[in-house]
Amino acid sequence: MQHTRIQLAQDDIPKQYYNIQADLPEALPPVIHPGTGQPIGPDDLAPLFPMELIGQEVSQERFIDIPDEVRDVYSMWRPTPLIRAVRLEKALDTPAKIYYKYEGTSPAGSHKPNTAVPQAYYNKVAGIKKLTTETGAGQWGSALSFACQLMGIDLEVYMVKASYNQKPYRRSMIQTWGGQVFPSPSDRTQAGRNVLSISPDSPGSLGIAISEAVELAATREDTKYALGSVLNHVLMHQTVIGEEVKRGFEIIGDEPDILVACVGGGSNFGGFTFPFLADKMNGKSDMRVVAVEPTAAPSLTKGQYVYDFGDTAQTTPLMKMYTLGHSFIPAPIHAGGLRYHGMAPLVCHLYDLGFIEAVAVTQTKVFEAAVLFARTEGIVPAPEPSHAIRVAIDEALRCKESGEAKTICFDLCGHGHFDMAAYDAHLSGSLEDYQYPETEVGKALSLLPKVG
Ligand SMILES: *Cc1c(COP(=O)(O)O)cnc(C)c1O
Repeated sequence: MQHTRIQLAQDDIPKQYYNIQADLPEALPPVIHPGTGQPIGPDDLAPLFPMELIGQEVSQERFIDIPDEVRDVYSMWRPTPLIRAVRLEKALDTPAKIYYKYEGTSPAGSHKPNTAVPQAYYNKVAGIKKLTTETGAGQWGSALSFACQLMGIDLEVYMVKASYNQKPYRRSMIQTWGGQVFPSPSDRTQAGRNVLSISPDSPGSLGIAISEAVELAATREDTKYALGSVLNHVLMHQTVIGEEVKRGFEIIGDEPDILVACVGGGSNFGGFTFPFLADKMNGKSDMRVVAVEPTAAPSLTKGQYVYDFGDTAQTTPLMKMYTLGHSFIPAPIHAGGLRYHGMAPLVCHLYDLGFIEAVAVTQTKVFEAAVLFARTEGIVPAPEPSHAIRVAIDEALRCKESGEAKTICFDLCGHGHFDMAAYDAHLSGSLEDYQYPETEVGKALSLLPKVG
């Protein structure tokens, strides 16, 4: 029998998170207060996050212990499978070896619980009773609802309206785990009402939903806010993915030449690649690390590296990132988790320093790859990681031309069981492509905040 699944043991569940900030050759640019123009401090974030998470956000420690209670929860689905895609390799007739790390075995079906669980845990320990959050495709909202249920915390989720309507079952999942969910823009916040007054039919965006959730947490005493991506501590929690992948390759005595992951806010990409990037920054490895984004929201490949707001209503601090402009609303592609105007500052910094590459792909090409993957490997992938599958396949086909037997590993960060409407659209030939919206991005970039 062909051995396609690398066997990891319970003991291989990481005991510490890896903090890439400790190994950066240049420190991250500071986060700036939009009012004062000065770097923000812990007190500025205290209304939104518990102190432990604020500490992690700026920590320079290389490793941070994972609390036992969090590791216990992780053991419900971790270690996750690391699989060699032999049937996909055969279908492509490539000399390349293709591996994937499958995060879809978590209760919520994606990598999101890796950070939802510690975030809910640290809020519980700090005595917080309620969290608010936003969600795009519903992955983050459902993951946080699961985590809040385990930790005994109430949850309000603001869900991007396009997804709320396209993905009713993610909404039901949030409710099944006990969370409340509202379509965003909603009339429950000033930020939501402002958008509705200008465009009543707005499909919403992650930026708008973030504004709503932040507004509520900032104005209520017992409530804090949780973010599913972008921030340093979120990417750090996700490094359990990359640490396990590293361990898996140790076991089989191989090493990837190319790592590929999709980027929305950058968390699965960061979690998957950062444990490997330490070696690359030390000059010990020349591995290629590729971030894949949609042509409809191409922050890294088409954005500007400047200070911008994380949300549409301009309520968050200013972060230096590759951005399409906070007022840019991406087309309603099926990969809802990739519809974001900005990108994690850590990912942007590494891109700026030249340690990672980025490529943008169109959704019809993405779904062709997704279907080929499902027909060979069996798993029906979510539209987001199908962006990574597309590029992993393209790299494997390049190996076929050149005759090189490279080892490619990609992050299959979630299954697509709630995305079958998107598959229907693809299979019936009605899937639309959205090219780079140059005019809208130009307009949004002209509205960037001025930072001295
Ligand atoms: C949320 C999500 C994404 C996008 O977020 P990142 O922070 O970039 O990882 C991608 N894929 C899946 C399955 C998601 O749930």
